[in-house]
Amino acid sequence: MNRWIPRRASLALAGTVLVCVSLGAQAPVAPNTSERSGQAAVAPATGEPSSAAPGAEPPKAPPPAAGADPWAALGLPPAGSSGGSAAAATGGDDPWGFAEETHEETWADILRPQVQDLAITTAFFVFALVSFFRKSKPLKYAALAISVGYLGVTKSTLISVTDIFRLVHFDFPQVKYSLAWYLIAGFTVLTTLLFGRLYCGRICAFGALTQLLDAVVPTRIRWEPSAKVERYAGYIKYGMLFGVVGYYAATDHFTIYRYVEPFWMYTRQGSVVLWTMLGTLLLATLVVRNLYCRFLCPVGAALGLISQVTTVFRIKRWSECRTCKICERTCEWGAIRGPQIVRSECVRCDDCERVYADEKKCVHWIVVHRKAKNLPVGAKVGV
Ligand code: SF4
Ligand code: SF4
Repeated sequence: MNRWIPRRASLALAGTVLVCVSLGAQAPVAPNTSERSGQAAVAPATGEPSSAAPGAEPPKAPPPAAGADPWAALGLPPAGSSGGSAAAATGGDDPWGFAEETHEETWADILRPQVQDLAITTAFFVFALVSFFRKSKPLKYAALAISVGYLGVTKSTLISVTDIFRLVHFDFPQVKYSLAWYLIAGFTVLTTLLFGRLYCGRICAFGALTQLLDAVVPTRIRWEPSAKVERYAGYIKYGMLFGVVGYYAATDHFTIYRYVEPFWMYTRQGSVVLWTMLGTLLLATLVVRNLYCRFLCPVGAALGLISQVTTVFRIKRWSECRTCKICERTCEWGAIRGPQIVRSECVRCDDCERVYADEKKCVHWIVVHRKAKNLPVGAKVGV
């Protein structure tokens, strides 16, 4: 490895951290926008979360002014009321009794605006799971494209560090108005427990975009960090996670999320400076693949921690993996180190699993077939 390469890596990473910080510093919108109306609800250009949809409310809003109703501020019925019949219940403002005709909110009213989004999101998750279980490369890229098109461009809904903030005050959106948010969050948690960072490998619209970029960028402009750089740079994202959540817990400054996430890009609301910074991040990603996901993303770090502890269905390893390096070279996420798969880094992209299944490439199968034919099995077979 040339001596200049680590320096180049350090510069690229330092530059990218700077870019992310700058991107976040001016991000105008909250990235995660669960909806009540079925349409993406984005925050106003101030960077504060939208109050138009309960699913988009901040994890902990600042205390309301004296006399103000916090529920009304979130677009919900006033405190102490029971939905649409609140006016009827008060009676004082309705001497003619018109309130009796006030429409009671039904489950049909609640579900109608959400049903299309729930159906499309569910269909996408099913498709992503089918692509995962079939280990199909074309289906995987189709899922990535749908993620960018639907979860990204259309909905602008990604799991964000703001969702982790919610754990600090245990402050979650109202279930019945935020079914899509619960669907995405539930799917993410469940699949992470079962398979690891499947969300990163297939669902997240930013990770999907960088993976699609990766597929078209010529490999000659790539720079692969050494195992040592990879390992140490991978810790940055944990620093980001604990730093930003700790800062939020100490200060309640929700908008700190803007300093660490570029997900605002899907809202297409950014200043010239923001877009310039984002362009720089994406340019750096052309050289160091999946740069943000591998080294900087706090959400990826949180999912990585869960994966490291709990992944139920793990990727198989053969005894031959101790010496064979084919999969290690195949993994674009730096998640295979010798015989081990680092579960916190693996995004279940299937690349290595396709190698394991290839009976002409995988040393394990070559050995099995040679043994079956009573042929000598050399120590260097296929390595
Ligand atoms: S690491 Fe972050 S940006 Fe990358 S795919 Fe995972 S959640 Fe998305
Ligand atoms: S190649 Fe294998 S170890 Fe690497 S990220 Fe993909 S599934 Fe995980």
